Amino acid sequence: MYQAPRGTQDILPDEQPYWNYVKSNARQVAHLYGYGAIETPIFEDTQLFLRSVGETSDIVQKEMYTFLDKGENSLTLRPEGTAPIGRAYLEHGLSNQPQPVKLYTIGPFFRYDRPQAGRYRELHQFSYEAIGEIDPALDAEIIAMSWDYLTRLGLRELSIQLNSIGCPICRPHYVEALREYYRGKVAELCLDCQTRLERNPLRLLDCKNRACNAVAESAPRSIDYLGEECSGHFQRLEELLHSLAIPYQINNRLVRGLDYYTKTVFEVYSTETGSQSSLGGGGRYDGLIEQLGGRPTPAVGFAAGLERTILNLKKQGITPPSRPGVVAFVASLGDGTEVAVSRLVAQLRAADIAALQSFGRRSLKSQLKHAHASGARFTLILGPDELATGRVVLRDMEKSTQEAVDQSTVVELLLKGVRGPTPNP
Ligand SMILES: [Zn+2]
Ligand SMILES: [Zn+2]
Repeated sequence: MYQAPRGTQDILPDEQPYWNYVKSNARQVAHLYGYGAIETPIFEDTQLFLRSVGETSDIVQKEMYTFLDKGENSLTLRPEGTAPIGRAYLEHGLSNQPQPVKLYTIGPFFRYDRPQAGRYRELHQFSYEAIGEIDPALDAEIIAMSWDYLTRLGLRELSIQLNSIGCPICRPHYVEALREYYRGKVAELCLDCQTRLERNPLRLLDCKNRACNAVAESAPRSIDYLGEECSGHFQRLEELLHSLAIPYQINNRLVRGLDYYTKTVFEVYSTETGSQSSLGGGGRYDGLIEQLGGRPTPAVGFAAGLERTILNLKKQGITPPSRPGVVAFVASLGDGTEVAVSRLVAQLRAADIAALQSFGRRSLKSQLKHAHASGARFTLILGPDELATGRVVLRDMEKSTQEAVDQSTVVELLLKGVRGPTPNP
């Protein structure tokens, strides 16, 4: 027996209402803020991620699905969505459009990570990206969108955490201060952090190891090292968030894992009892487009994992609105009624009535059982007698009543039965 590969999942019909709910909400928020949809390929040139996400990041070091195709090209299943969108922005000359260019995408991403609750190797994310504008009002807009996305789903107990990690001008001073601080404490750090100290010292701050955590507590804070421009940007962003009444906390240890972030970084957490799980995050990536070969172009974005969102919906007992299901099931009593059954079903569907039919030869009892399981509100029964008289038996599954009606009136009766007010008993 085959199984879905480790870290992947089948999303069966029963689960789909959650996925539809979350995706359509993400699209609705994008629409409200004027973001247009973009889709990029599932795989890209490996270099794209090496250049953008950063060679020292966990993603590039451990988590990429990289392979040679039959033409010996190194390709990588996309581990994140920002670099591909940056590539598309450059490739299609979107910098010639009015800036910022606002885009969103929803789809699968791939990371060779250790699977656990809410974490998959094939994961699904959506992201909002706004490229070509430095104004902190755009940072505020993206943070407001992330807030709207989560609160419109009905999620409660959320916390936005915010930090600024500066820019290539002021950040080196901070990184030096961090190294200085950590140099005397190398022996207390986990092995990963000992290598991070030289290669990627910001990541020392968010190591989950308990000893590293304790050392990070009193590490220097990036907001104390911001240059004039970065600190003005951060101040303005805070003012805007206050004026929008978006609650947030400053988290001095929030750095996020990817090299391309500058200035604003933020993450949204669920603060529900116990686990502090991240529902999504983002920030400014003013250096990315230039790193990919374009002119210096500021940008800001947010991404959220759909699995995490759905996990939290379930934890909080939020059920998605389900689409109306099957309305009618057409049962057949055999003996030459098959063609009439197919025709009746087609007639119902043409009138936008979702309808199922019975296949093969089954007893009426087993067909009614099937009709019941399908959730159909009505069952229509066609036998040789009905065929001869141009009638059909209409069975109301909720009331367990039935009557023979004229075939030509069935569509109208069903529409009335489904849409009309339920009569008092
Ligand atoms: Zn700066
Ligand atoms: Zn560590």
